[in-house]
Amino acid sequence: HATKKTMADHLRKFEQLFTLTPQRMRMIVEAFKETLALGLSQPGQIVPMIPTFVFGYPTGQETGEYLAVDLGGTNLRICLVTLQGKGEFEITQSKYRLTEEQKQGDGQQLFDFCAQCLKTFIDTNYVDEDGKSTLSEGQVLPLGFTFSYPCSQERIDHGVLIRWTKGFGAGDTEGRDVAAMFNKSVDDLKIPVKMTALINDTTGTLIASHYVNPRTKIAVIFGTGCNAAYMERVGDIPKIKNLGIDDDAEMAINCEWGAFDSFKHEHLPRTKYDQIVDESSNKVGEQAFEKLISGRYLGEILRLVLCDLIDEGVLFLGQNTYKLETPYVLETAFLSLMESDPTDELLMIIGIFSHFFALDTTLAERQFFKALAKLIGRRAARLSACGIAAIVSKKNYLEEGCSVGADGSLYNKYPHFADRVHEGLQDIFGEKGKNIITHHAEDGSGVGSSIIAAMTKIRK
Ligand code: ADP
Repeated sequence: HATKKTMADHLRKFEQLFTLTPQRMRMIVEAFKETLALGLSQPGQIVPMIPTFVFGYPTGQETGEYLAVDLGGTNLRICLVTLQGKGEFEITQSKYRLTEEQKQGDGQQLFDFCAQCLKTFIDTNYVDEDGKSTLSEGQVLPLGFTFSYPCSQERIDHGVLIRWTKGFGAGDTEGRDVAAMFNKSVDDLKIPVKMTALINDTTGTLIASHYVNPRTKIAVIFGTGCNAAYMERVGDIPKIKNLGIDDDAEMAINCEWGAFDSFKHEHLPRTKYDQIVDESSNKVGEQAFEKLISGRYLGEILRLVLCDLIDEGVLFLGQNTYKLETPYVLETAFLSLMESDPTDELLMIIGIFSHFFALDTTLAERQFFKALAKLIGRRAARLSACGIAAIVSKKNYLEEGCSVGADGSLYNKYPHFADRVHEGLQDIFGEKGKNIITHHAEDGSGVGSSIIAAMTKIRK
């Protein structure tokens, strides 16, 4: 009779499924480069390569006080940023968690919520000791709005939402100018601000990173979603030739690279688990690259593998596994914890499974979970390296080298994520891959929109 498979036998199967060879990575980079070029040449492509109307890098000398509203995938942040010049800044911020109803409800109400939080922030931050407003009569505060969903722009303070991503689905918003919607909410509450720049978190991170570290040439966000921005020569953006902007001017491009390989699924190594994530998402076929990488999905991929093995009678024998059967209950943060468990007995993993899922685990199971988390996390980092490599290669940054400003919980909190991206870059480029390094771009999305608001003011 057949001998029972050990956890190690199972692991080998998943190693094969989730491991990316250097050769495969180079193929992905080539396809990625073609996709970037296509997005720059024609409007309406799957990876839209959005011109942001942010012209060139900051000098580092921008100064002044700016408000920033940052609508991310998980949180809404209101920031007060003081730019001090010399690449330095100070930031005060409040964070509000978005509810599922807000993400899925009415679009205008979502912006109303942003405006309410902004009003509260101003009411608490612009007061003296007696509680009197420190704003002078008629004073209007400049504000940058970081809205991290793909928008097509014709100007810096305008943007039509192409589509929601990252699980958002608020109604009556796609196809509309979100800057106008935001302004309406602000006007309704008579908040004394003027929104001067609508930007994406990647663009903000690019500008903020460069402000602090001028070697920055690319920015990548690894949060609920995954996306990148970089600076492109206007002459190399054929689709905006008709605007008559100087060819040698530089404009930040919001790649929206999370959409790479959407719909056709020709280039990325998708497992059956990735397909289930996609098919059960609210946007089937879309954001194919993001779904293999970002914080919203990694926990779910692991959960689906576990569910499969439960069905096969391999895991948690004799126990009730219903708590693990709800989609998205296994958060990506758990993968971080599992990977960072330093104990031989894997006590952290015991805790996660008993506390959150009422399940006992054997040591062999726990070792398997940790190894699986590593496979999924490593694949995400190596795929990200492919995207970075495509931009590096397109822009010829390899010889001179550059820094990649990165932000988002996955980058900041997932153990070894950055090392794995670096290792991936070396697998793609060989020794020269070491010329490309990533660094954490702190508060990029909020600070970036402030700097852009400052740059816009200077230009006007
Ligand atoms: P956002 O992208 O919404 O602006 P974040 O950068 O904080 O915000 O990303 C949130 C995502 O990061 C969520 O999908 C969450 O699952 C994931 N996440 C949160 N904490 C961790 C962690 N410790 N390790 C890895 N991923 C995490």
